[in-house]
Amino acid sequence: MMLAKKVGVDLGTANVLVYVRGRGIVIDEPAVVALSVRDNTVVAVGNEARSMMGRTPGGIQVIRPMRDGVIADYLITEAMLRYFIGRVMGRFSLIKPEVMICVPAGVTSVEQRAVRDAAEQAGARKPAHLVPEPLAAAIGAGIPVGSARGHMVVDIGGGRTEAAVISMYGVVVSASARMAGDRLDDAIASYVKRRHNLIVGDRTAEEVKIAVGSALPVDEGLACAVRGRDQITGLPKTITVTSVEIAQAIQDHLATIVQAVKSVLERTPPELASDVMDHGIVLTGGGALLRHLDELLTQECGVPCYVADAPLQCVAIGAGVALEHLDLVKRNLPTESESLVASYN
Ligand code: ADP
Ligand code: MG
Repeated sequence: MMLAKKVGVDLGTANVLVYVRGRGIVIDEPAVVALSVRDNTVVAVGNEARSMMGRTPGGIQVIRPMRDGVIADYLITEAMLRYFIGRVMGRFSLIKPEVMICVPAGVTSVEQRAVRDAAEQAGARKPAHLVPEPLAAAIGAGIPVGSARGHMVVDIGGGRTEAAVISMYGVVVSASARMAGDRLDDAIASYVKRRHNLIVGDRTAEEVKIAVGSALPVDEGLACAVRGRDQITGLPKTITVTSVEIAQAIQDHLATIVQAVKSVLERTPPELASDVMDHGIVLTGGGALLRHLDELLTQECGVPCYVADAPLQCVAIGAGVALEHLDLVKRNLPTESESLVASYN
């Protein structure tokens, strides 16, 4: 008898990833949707929609439905999810796959239900399962979450940073801050506007962050050219920024991330805190790739921090693997996520 495929979905604010047990990551695309303004129908999703960003005629609008870590437009998020899952499902026509989805912390039960429904409509076996994001991130990072020891993970995505201490498949203490990659991009855009009178779009700001962004102002001779529009003349212009400048432009934002991590450490029971000191803190999500962020967090929190292998993929892989431990994951699902999550907005 054939076994059902096991599928993990990371519904991120910046990227959606789908992991299939035995095949690995099969979808990795931006969480972007292009819509027809007239009737709100979906024109394109993922890579195709992203390539249209900032370049569409009036009748088409390109949005990131989950930007800033809130589900800005639920119906569009649902359509996007259905599109991605549907693309994977096509291959499993006979036996419906088991699907585990990570949803952002703090989504309401109505939204949770809608995510479930979208997955089931797209062909997932009922019921589709949900897993807390930090738990999936920890599993995907290879942390032994089943042990009775405390392990800490900090996931820095596009819209949100989530820090959590995990033990025996459960989230013991956590914090969520609406401060992550997107807000760093915004800080970079407003810096080049203020300092260099240059107007740049979101994508350019993100490219600068990836090219020369740094969490510490260490001079490594890193610099890059930035193209945009001169605020005064209105004409195209190119300037150069250094990694030291960018580090200064984002330092206040990074302080908010540090604060969220510290707030978890402060609330962690002593036995588990001692485990975290021993094991260190594992960083996941695309934001973890910011240069020297591990060092900044190590300095500020006094606990060694490490970036996971393939930090962008941890949540999707962890969601897929979590299906192997369904009973343990379910046993620990919080009934009221608010009771575990402190928010720093
Ligand atoms: P989400 O889970 O919210 O979809 P991801 O974990 O996919 O987010 O991470 C996306 C974020 O990571 C974006 O803000 C992106 O700019 C950022 N990012 C990706 N690569 C790097 C890098 N090398 N340096 C800094 N930030 C990065
Ligand atoms: Mg994520």
